[in-house]
Amino acid sequence: MTGDLLIRSVRPWPNLPGAPLVDVLCEGGHVAAFAPDLDPPPAVPVVDGRGGVLLPAFTDAHAHLDSTRLGLPFRPHSAGAGLADLIENDRRNWRSAEASVAQRATYTLARTIAGGATHVRSHAQVDVDSGLEKLEGVLAAREEHRGRAHVEVVAFPQCGILREKGTAELLEAALRAGADLVGGLDPAGYDRDPVGHLDVVFGLAEKHQRGVDVHLHDGGTLGAFQVELICERVRALGMQGQATVSHAFALSTVDGERQRELVELLAEHDIAVTTVAPGVREPLPLRELRRAGVRVGLGQDGIRDYWSPYGNGDMLDRAWQLAYRNGFRRDDLVEMCVDIATRGGAAVMGRTLGLTEGSPADLVVVPGDTVTAAVMDRAPRTLVVHAGRVVAAEGEIV
Ligand SMILES: [Zn+2]
Repeated sequence: MTGDLLIRSVRPWPNLPGAPLVDVLCEGGHVAAFAPDLDPPPAVPVVDGRGGVLLPAFTDAHAHLDSTRLGLPFRPHSAGAGLADLIENDRRNWRSAEASVAQRATYTLARTIAGGATHVRSHAQVDVDSGLEKLEGVLAAREEHRGRAHVEVVAFPQCGILREKGTAELLEAALRAGADLVGGLDPAGYDRDPVGHLDVVFGLAEKHQRGVDVHLHDGGTLGAFQVELICERVRALGMQGQATVSHAFALSTVDGERQRELVELLAEHDIAVTTVAPGVREPLPLRELRRAGVRVGLGQDGIRDYWSPYGNGDMLDRAWQLAYRNGFRRDDLVEMCVDIATRGGAAVMGRTLGLTEGSPADLVVVPGDTVTAAVMDRAPRTLVVHAGRVVAAEGEIV
């Protein structure tokens, strides 16, 4: 489902203040031309960018669409501190939501698309309590928005793999049911058996020829050790380019020399990293990772759920948070955050986005005269385009 489209009057990034507005012609789902005052070919729809900044569409490289309560009556946060209590709190409450997992995931994915993201990697919890119910809800949301966004789903063992008998079998069932990747969670810190945990994750990945995306909150020496274990398995299985470490707090909690070693290891094995611009943990060494050639993506993580009241589906908002959390003021650094939130996340998902002729016509138009101004203002998106078709306008999906 690709389309032709002419977008009038936008400022493609990188744009200089005062640069002339151009039109963008999309043909067959790809960008075909940038020029002022283009004539639309017959029958090609024409939309007005109204002088906004043109960016590659956003990518949410780390979401949890299965747990969201966005759009539902607000519930006060009820979890205690620590991962185990957050997990238990979710388990106590998720079945009493006012809407099904599919309805909630569908609504939040709509908000995410309306905010300009046309690529999303969502984790879906798979455990002995919920079975495949949450996964099926996320798959239904993906189906509902097919044509508006490219969505990958990770079978995510939120409650560990080895702590609860039957989880490994459920993960395999999730892959057969439509999950794209195998997830993992703190193989040492939560499951307390990093080798056993990762052998299940990579064993399933090898058997079913899927990528992996491991949540690694463990920091310091323990986290660094697990990064090495992941690299060993990627090398042994020839899985370069198919593995992601999410959060990767180890990178920001070891000393400089060790950090350099880990960044080089990730680059050598082409292992991607995603961050959610965490509020309470040290930010990742973004510049060092990108300089080394590591693919870095940004995600929302949980979106107003039993884990946290934060998150609103808006990846431009999250890009602002990444810049703010890192203390960035210079335009080039703010723009780096936008690059991570757009092209970077797409690269994590193995996709190439951009603003050159021939790039996929996955685009977003944001009011603003420069990219940094657009990030600071975070106005509703004028247009969101996926594969050459308008999928959202003025902050609402179409
Ligand atoms: Zn997560």
